[in-house]
Amino acid sequence: MLFVYHYGIILIFAVSTILSLLSIQENRIFIGKPMFSNLIYGFCCVAFTYNIVSLSRNFLSMETLYYMPLLVMIAFRSYWFTFLSAVTAPIVLSLYLSFWYPNYSGVLVIKLITSGLFTVILLMLITLVIKSRLFRILISALIVSLVEFYQNTILNNGQSLNYEGFQIFLTFLGNIALGIFVYWLSNKISQITTDIQKKLLDYDRDELTGLYNYRRLNKDILNVASQSTSELTLVIIDIDYFKKFNDTYGHTYGNIILQLVATSVKQIVSERFKRSEYKIYRYGGEELIITLNGTVTDINVMLEELRLLFNNLSIKDHNQQLTLSIGVSFNKNHNFDNLATFKKADSLLYKVKKEGRDNYLIELLPKRQRS
Ligand code: GH3
Ligand code: MG
Ligand code: MG
Repeated sequence: MLFVYHYGIILIFAVSTILSLLSIQENRIFIGKPMFSNLIYGFCCVAFTYNIVSLSRNFLSMETLYYMPLLVMIAFRSYWFTFLSAVTAPIVLSLYLSFWYPNYSGVLVIKLITSGLFTVILLMLITLVIKSRLFRILISALIVSLVEFYQNTILNNGQSLNYEGFQIFLTFLGNIALGIFVYWLSNKISQITTDIQKKLLDYDRDELTGLYNYRRLNKDILNVASQSTSELTLVIIDIDYFKKFNDTYGHTYGNIILQLVATSVKQIVSERFKRSEYKIYRYGGEELIITLNGTVTDINVMLEELRLLFNNLSIKDHNQQLTLSIGVSFNKNHNFDNLATFKKADSLLYKVKKEGRDNYLIELLPKRQRS
């Protein structure tokens, strides 16, 4: 029975540690779910308080361990956790003391709990006032040490725990070390979450051009499930004779040209359309796709602008002209089937290539739909 009890405690301790580490990232992971994160906070507070006081019965300093999660929360300025600790800690602590140390006097328990409560309030103030994370942690560690000193003095008149000056000094050092460890840990966690967020952002982006990648195109357009009822115009752009260009000037310079093309296309599209009305993808090596919300009336103007821009680009010191072939189609001509729309634009692009390149073909709209 004791065996189950011990392992049960260790299990709860492990779960609450993981949950609290997730919770301190509240603004990122549980965003928009305050109810859920508050429940986790509550669970962690109770679990931590109980586990730590019970596990640390034979340790040098019970309060050091008890305040550790609190120090983590202070590092991240998590007011909720500090507040819940203030509410739950006295209840859990008094239940614990009355169960394991039934002969402690009521006055002693009240003194212990009051000083704990007072500490938590002081720590909350520090969380609010002090901006620097390291300073916040060091001050908190100092306060915790002083409270420990006070609590141990009271306990000396009670039972067990007989602290001497040296042990108190060690406790103080321990708290400071713990504060620095928490500072390091909290910085590390912040850094890891930032990295993860950045990776998630990169997931649907093309590394070279910064445009959306093929994966995103598939998800948005080519996936049959994404068939929608909203109007969409699809533009496929392919650079002419890019292979020859690569062979002449080298792959690295080719990459720079690809970036230049991407930036130019983005600039022209963004001048004519609102950010929410278009998306630009890098579909293949030197093929781009633009999707525009709604049937576009001034698409001719945009394509002419694009052609003009590229005609005026001089490549290196040579007179090599950079030209584009473009195919445009509308999903309302294809029962809003995105895949069929894509195939149509691709076939128009192929036609432009066959007819000599440096041109664009726009799918004909039925007469009544032209505007
Ligand atoms: P056209 O489209 O006019 O028929 O001729 P093309 O030479 O452009 O033919 P194609 O579209 O088949 O060739 C694409 C070339 O683009 C092949 C490859 O050398 C080049 N390419 C593809 N991806 C990259 C890339 O990431 N960087 C560079 N520098 N070149 C690339
Ligand atoms: Mg090409
Ligand atoms: Mg190509």
